[in-house]
Order: sequence, then C-alpha cells, then structure tokens
Amino acid sequence: DSVFASIVQAPEDPILGVTVAYNKDQSPLKVNLGVGAYRTEEGKPLVLNVVRRAEQSLVNDRSRVKEYLPITGLADFNRSSAKLIFGANSPAIQEKRVATVQCLSGTGSLRVGSEFLAKHYHQRTIYIPLPTWGNHPKVFGMAGLSVSTYRYYDPATRGLDFQGLLEDLGAAPSGAIVLLHACAHNPTGVDPTLDQWEKIRQLMRSKGLLPFFDSAYQGFASGSLDADAESVRMFVADGGECLAAQSYAKNMGLYGERVGALSIVCKTADVASRVESQLKLVIRPMYSNPPIHGASIVATILNDRELYNEWTIELKAMADRIITMRYQLFDALTARGTPGDWSHIIKQIGMFTFTGLNKEQVAFMIREYHIYMTSDGRISMAGLSSRTVPHLADAIHAAVT
Ligand code: PMP
Repeated sequence: DSVFASIVQAPEDPILGVTVAYNKDQSPLKVNLGVGAYRTEEGKPLVLNVVRRAEQSLVNDRSRVKEYLPITGLADFNRSSAKLIFGANSPAIQEKRVATVQCLSGTGSLRVGSEFLAKHYHQRTIYIPLPTWGNHPKVFGMAGLSVSTYRYYDPATRGLDFQGLLEDLGAAPSGAIVLLHACAHNPTGVDPTLDQWEKIRQLMRSKGLLPFFDSAYQGFASGSLDADAESVRMFVADGGECLAAQSYAKNMGLYGERVGALSIVCKTADVASRVESQLKLVIRPMYSNPPIHGASIVATILNDRELYNEWTIELKAMADRIITMRYQLFDALTARGTPGDWSHIIKQIGMFTFTGLNKEQVAFMIREYHIYMTSDGRISMAGLSSRTVPHLADAIHAAVT
C-alpha cells in the first residue's frame, strides 16, 4: 500500500479551478471570465510588442549569462521598480530609505513581506478588506500572521462601505498591519476616492497602523501609471513607513514570468539597510534567489526611454479596451431592459466587475450559457470581447429574470 494512501483529495483552487472546468467544457460558446488575464478582442493572450523587443535585445546580447542573481534579485530592476511605484523624484528613494527586493510576482512579494513581518514586527495581526483576493488570507496565514478583516464593500450600494471601513480600522489594535489594494480592488472594482484615501491615511497614521500595499494593477486601472500609484504615494509622502508588493503580471503581461518586487519604506537609510539584510534571510531558505529572465525584460523596458514610452501606450490600450467592454456590457443590458441597476459595471475600476450575481445565478450561467466565472459573481472584463458581450448579456438577463 502507498505510504500516502490516507491522503484526501484537495479541492481545486476557487479561482484557478474555474479554468480547469472551462477547459473541460466542449461547447463552442464557452467563455472564460474567471481568471484575471488580459485577452485581445480576438480572445487571445497578448504578449506586448515592447516585451518582444526587450526579449530580442536580451537574446542578441551575447555578453548575457545565466549566472545566479543575488538573493535580492537584479539591482537595476529593483531600483526602477521602486521609482515606478513611489515616483521618480520620491524623497524616500533619494534618502535611501527604501529596501527593495525582487520576488516571484505579486504573490511572492506578499509572502516575503509577510514572512518578514511575522518574524520581526511586533504586531502579528493583518487586517484585510472584506471581500478580498481569495489568496490573501492563505498567503498571510501561511506566513504566520493572524488574519482579521475590515468592512470594505457594501452590497446594497455596490460601493465602498467607507463608514464601516473607518470604524473597523479605528477599532484595530495599535500597530496592526493593514492590507490595502493600491488600485483596482479585486474582486469588487471599488476604490476609495483620493479624499477618502486621505482620511484613511490620517486614521492609520494616528493609530500607528502599518500599511501593506498590494499593487497588482498599476497602470491597468486608469491607463496612467502615476494615477494608479497615487494612494501609495500619499502614504510615502508623509514620511511614515509602509510595505508595497508590486506585480508585473498584468501591466506588462508577464504573468508566467513571475516577476515582482517587495519594497519596505523605512524612516532612515540605516533601518532600511538592516531590513534588507533580514529580507535576505527570509528569501535564501525559501527559493535562494529569483529568476533572471522576467526581471531583465522589465529592467530593459524601464531603463530605456523609448521602450518605456511604448509600454505606456500599450498599457493604456489594454486599460481602454477593458473600459470599452464595460460600456458595451452596460449598453447591452440596458437594451435588453434587464431588471436592476447595472451602473456599477461602468463605475467599477480595473480588470473585474463584481456583478452582484449570486452563487445560484453563477451556476445557472455556467450550466446554460457556458460562461465561467468565480462563484462570487466576479467577471474578468479583460476576458470579454465585442463578440462575446451579447452572449454574456443574454445570460445575465436570463439569470435575473
Ligand atoms: N494581488 C491581487 C489583488 C491580485 O489580483 C493578484 C493577481 N490575481 C495578485 C496579487 C498576484 O498575482 P501575481 O502573483 O500573478 O503577480
């Protein structure tokens, strides 16, 4: 008998499992709106032209070797990643108060950051929004933090529960860690206004709560890299400390390259240097050092003015296509006279629409229309096209009537 005979079958991941089910479906009508990956109007994955150009120049450069990177990753990549999120003229960077390490995309950055906090920070509780990306509680729990939630989304208004948020953060123990989505909150698509961010900042600083930003969609939400980093920059501008996890999965389309960065903004350069030394001790036994290829692509693009400009144009085109899909879906439901208020489809921000459809309605749409999405009613607008919008509108109409 197998020594593993008593092992029970684990459930599929709630998000990636949607794709598993989609792949098994034989219907030509099937649409996958589950996973958050960009698709072209033709429904194809997209490799940015600027990424192809950067890769070409890497291949042509015969001086490039495949040696190990340092534990902290590619130095050029780390420098430019910090500049991208905190701003090119950020005083925190100039004062060398930021420790940045290359990690395995957004998830790896969150994990390294939370392992570091669990080991070295005096408060082991992290507050995450309700709801949030399904992997957050698992990442933080595995790192040894204890996970609490703060109110975020109000189903009644399909908007921000700002009062609830302030109450819950106001009641959090002093020093607690707070996970904030820098922009394009996943799964709700609901972000605080700049005014609300300012109030959140004041409350958090007055209580000594530690901000941990998850920035998985910079540039992807509004089409502007600067606008989408505004929340983070407000917190850095006050001179206080914070963490930021960056992902290049969506905004450079580098999903499978697993390239991201963790930055810890500290009060002084001296603290930042000690923090970096401890981050190395977290990383070394976990995966030793990060992969070279994706980080080289990113560094090549961020350090070349022409490639950088081309990137911002391609990025804006992706963001704009998603926004266009929002309007097309909204118009299609309006044209069908679908009961209910669907204006949240055009108000929400980023890759996802939190439709408000319930579990049963989602199951109905999968069964009858072969449209796949997570059971919370979240749909990826990036997976839609002008061709599939009418089919989705028919399905939503049938599900709610
Ligand atoms: N945070 C949020 C909010 C996300 O939506 C995602 C991607 N789905 C991630 C982090 C991490 O993604 P990755 O590890 O692929 O960068």
